[in-house]
Order: sequence, then structure tokens, then C-alpha cells
Amino acid sequence: MTDARSIAPNDLRAFWMPFTANRQFKSNPRMFVAAQDMHYTTQDGRQVLDGTAGLWCCNAGHGRPKITEAIRQQAGELDYAPAFQMGHPKAFELANRLVDIAPEGIDHVFYTNSGSESVDTALKIAIAYHRARGEGTRTRLIGRERGYHGVNFGGISVGGIVANRKHYGTLLTGVDHLPHTHQPDLNAFTRGQPQHGEDLADELERLVALHDASTIAAVIVEPMAGSTGVLIPPKGYLKRLREITKKHGILLIFDEVITGFGRLGSPFAAQHYDVLPDMMTTAKGLTNGVIPMGAVLCTSDIHDAFMTGPENMIELFHGYTYSGNPMAAAAGIATLDTYAEDGLLTRAAELAPYWEDALHSLKGLPHVIDIRNTGLIGGIELEPIAGAPTKRAFQAFLDCYDRGVLVRTTGDIIALSPPLIIEKSHIDTLVGTIADVLKQLD
Ligand code: PMP
Repeated sequence: MTDARSIAPNDLRAFWMPFTANRQFKSNPRMFVAAQDMHYTTQDGRQVLDGTAGLWCCNAGHGRPKITEAIRQQAGELDYAPAFQMGHPKAFELANRLVDIAPEGIDHVFYTNSGSESVDTALKIAIAYHRARGEGTRTRLIGRERGYHGVNFGGISVGGIVANRKHYGTLLTGVDHLPHTHQPDLNAFTRGQPQHGEDLADELERLVALHDASTIAAVIVEPMAGSTGVLIPPKGYLKRLREITKKHGILLIFDEVITGFGRLGSPFAAQHYDVLPDMMTTAKGLTNGVIPMGAVLCTSDIHDAFMTGPENMIELFHGYTYSGNPMAAAAGIATLDTYAEDGLLTRAAELAPYWEDALHSLKGLPHVIDIRNTGLIGGIELEPIAGAPTKRAFQAFLDCYDRGVLVRTTGDIIALSPPLIIEKSHIDTLVGTIADVLKQLD
């Protein structure tokens, strides 16, 4: 067995790391070898406070015994079962448990292995749903600028990040984008939801007028856009989007890959913002990030549209070898148990005022041009270095890591999403370290 602590630098060549500056990393690697609760342990034995819940996924913190034990047991009992025409009880149990915590009206679960797969699955379901109901002309999809919906072809087509799109040709056709909701001139340093921007949802009416509603299948948005820098939905915006989609028979998909499982203080953002979408895409916190798993959650209206054909027909010709994988399902159930036992699905709501005050105490420090927060999420936007965008925030990430704190950067924004088990003392350390780093940053 390879001991991670003994990896020599020249062993790093084969792994082509995702979303990583590979050459920079391999000249100065940052390795984690263990994790427990709020902390990672580095290869050189340092403790690093996790300010990002891994990658917005370890909501219950690290090394949770119930989850670890469930995986261990499941591996010994039933390691794999085919997902096609066969089942196993835990996949059904987890689906019921998910529906129990989902908003009223969301009743069915389709399993995937990641957020990206959940997004492409939801887009396919949306188009097939209209077809199943005799509205096969509804094929157009609408995403949003600065949206992130994973890296598969559907997701990058509806997504709105140029770097994720520009290398890959024509992508899906028949896709439009709503404008993003980030208006720093009007909303900078807002605590919680911005006042300005509800009217940006009306841009959907413009697209409906251009294409006609009979050609549009679905709108997909992140209720709160995380990966592009923590863009909080303006007050009234999501409700308005719901009204317009409903009026025109267009499905509304919330990408809850980040916002699901307690991040905003409710199980899902749909409950937090009191808006019921037709589908929700999830992943990450579904298994506390421990085993790859995603899921699309949908209404009975969508599910039932597929259940009306002949009995011997496969209703949705879609799925993955690992859909509802036994170990992932076991991890999912144990994760939901852990969230329930520790009250984690609502804990962000309790801590939000303290979190908000802590974050906004950074206002006035060098380079800080905006601070945004909701639930246990924070975004600190820095003035970019002229001609070298992203460099300043990346340096802040490196400096925080050197001082024992893990943050994430996207563009020139420091994004925070700590495990929901965080204590006030950890918040003080996290924000205090960022303050120290900002004070000495070029
Ligand atoms: N959608 C959203 C909103 C996300 O934040 C992410 C991942 N950050 C994804 C989709 C993609 O998830 P994955 O990396 O599991 O494919």
C-alpha cells in the first residue's frame, strides 16, 4: 500500500488535476492526508481549518463516524447491485428520506453520480417531459450568465462562464441566457439579499417574445450562484421567475448542488426562498461529499408524465451504471441521519447573524470592494490587479493556506462555505486570518 505521506515529488506526474494550475501545484504541492471535523491535516503535519466544506460538500464536517461505518458495513454486505431492472432497498429508502426533507410537492428522485450529471439529467427530463405530453416543440433551454451547472455538455451550454464554454465548440444549440443578477454599483456590501434586481427576471419575457413559449422547455438557475462568486438572488427575483415560467408552461429547474442540505439554513434553497421549482438538481452534501452521488428531485407532475405509456416500455431511457449505488445510498442515509441528529439542516440559520457580522467586519480592509453573505456562505470580492485578474485572490488563498485556513477563490472573489458544524470560535479564526492576510497583501 502506498503511504500518502511518502509520495515523492516525481510521483506527481501522472495525475492531470482538474481545475488546477497543474504546473504551479506540482512545483509546490499542497497535500491533505487526513481530516477530522473542521480540520484537514497536511502532509507536513499541519492542521488547516476547512473554510469551504471541502468543495461545498462536507456539510457535516469530516470523519463522521456514522457515515464511515455505514459505508464499511455496506461494502461487506452488498457491494454493488445493477441499477437497471434491479434494485436494492437502500436506494428506495434514501429516495423516500430525500422527499421527506424536500419542499412539499417534490415527490420523486432520479439518481446520478455528480452535480454535472444531475444537471444534464434534469435538462434531458425537461425536454422529454414536454414530448411525453405532446409538446415536442418545447426544446429550447434557458440558463443565465455567470451560472455554473457543472462541466458536461448540457451544463456548460446553459452555464454562463466563458472559460468553461469557449474551448468546446458550438455546445448545445437552442440555448439562451438570462442576464446575471450581480449589480455591484447598486448592491455592494448588502447584508443578505440585495434590494435591486427583481426586474432582471423580466428578461425572460423578452426571450419568450422572441422565441414563443411553445419552443421553450425549461429555465435553469442556481437559486444562489456559488461558483461564480457568491451572487445572492435579489429580493423577489426567484418568485418573479417562477411566475413567468408558470405563466408560459416553462419548467423551472433550481440547481441546488451547493444550496441543498442546509447551506442556507433550510434543507433546500427552494424552502429558504419559498419558491417551488419543478426540478432540483443535487449532489455534494447528499453524501456529505464522501461518496460520489447526485440526484434530480422532481414533482409528481413530471414523473407521472412518463408513467402513462404501455406498461412494458422503459419510461425514461436514461441512467448510469452507478445510479443509486449501494455504498452511496448507505452513505446518503447515514448523512441524513447525521444532519438530523446534529440539527445541521437549520444550523446555518442560527449562525447566520454571527457569520454576517464577522464577514462584514472586513469592510474597509485593503482591496475589499464588496462583501456578500447568505446562510453559511460568504463572498469577499477584491479589487483585481490591473492586467492580472485573479492573481490577488489566488495569492490570498495561498497566504491563508500558509496560515492554516482553507478558502476558495473564484476570479477575484474569496468564497467561503464552511462545514455547518462550525463554531463561533472557528468563524473568528477564519475571518481573523483573512483579515491578517488582506492587510499584508499587495
Ligand atoms: N451545479 C452547481 C451549482 C455546482 O456548484 C456544481 C459544482 N460546484 C455543479 C453543478 C457540478 O457538480 P460536480 O462537480 O459534482 O459535477
